[in-house]
Amino acid sequence: MRVTAEGLDFGYRNRRKVLDGLTWTVEPGVTGLLGPNGAGKTTLLSLIVTLLPVRGGRLLIGEHDLSTGTGRSRARHELGFVPQRFSLTGELTVAETVAYAAWTHGLDRRECGEAARRALESVDLAGLADRRTRTLSGGQRQRVGIAAALAHDPRVLILDEPTAGLDPGQRLRVREVVAGLGADRTVLISTHLIEDVAHLCTRIGVLAGGRIEFQGTFPELEALIDDVPGASAYGSGFERAYDRLIARVGERP
Ligand code: ADP
Repeated sequence: MRVTAEGLDFGYRNRRKVLDGLTWTVEPGVTGLLGPNGAGKTTLLSLIVTLLPVRGGRLLIGEHDLSTGTGRSRARHELGFVPQRFSLTGELTVAETVAYAAWTHGLDRRECGEAARRALESVDLAGLADRRTRTLSGGQRQRVGIAAALAHDPRVLILDEPTAGLDPGQRLRVREVVAGLGADRTVLISTHLIEDVAHLCTRIGVLAGGRIEFQGTFPELEALIDDVPGASAYGSGFERAYDRLIARVGERP
């Protein structure tokens, strides 16, 4: 299932436009959304998951048009969202947390236990089903968040900075889980970590100046970086060159 934006405009009250005629299609697989701080990544994700209203242009989840009430309610069945800061209720177990998420997405109460079991398996947490969430590590909590977003088996999964604040081992684990989910879903992740993009994303979009200024694969992004002096794809200069590239993409007329 695709996510399609056509001429999408968005501004917060009394402010300049954050998104300005953004046109982009996100295909099945794992796509990375990059861009400088304040570019509007969280705003775009919030529009996609229907937390913000579409006021200008079009935004479609598959065939469902988010500017209509029917489109929004149908789209919500297809959407899973892991926000940047989600909270877990410490006294619930892992399985209860995910079953509750399934219930809030409209699943019948009798189906929620089985839905939770399946979702926990897909993030490799079946073994921790009976643990209380407060006892989990950061990476495990993040995977519970992903399981909660998956419990109603959505076709489209949106993750805002899924590896932020994790140590390298935990990041690797979350990345492996997300890569697996991209096999039969449309996964869109916002991230500022180049390793996430290099190891995880089959496609990349760079948001700058309210639009998608670059779209392509990681090798195509790398090719642009090649002509930045002193940069090599995995060398120490890469992070800096990458920041400059993102800034430069944003300055293109
Ligand atoms: P990013 O996720 O790329 O860092 P955001 O989508 O968070 O960017 O923010 C884009 C712009 O919108 C920023 O200038 C930010 O200050 C502004 N913004 C974000 N949320 C709000 C809000 N709730 N009200 C007003 N302005 C906001």
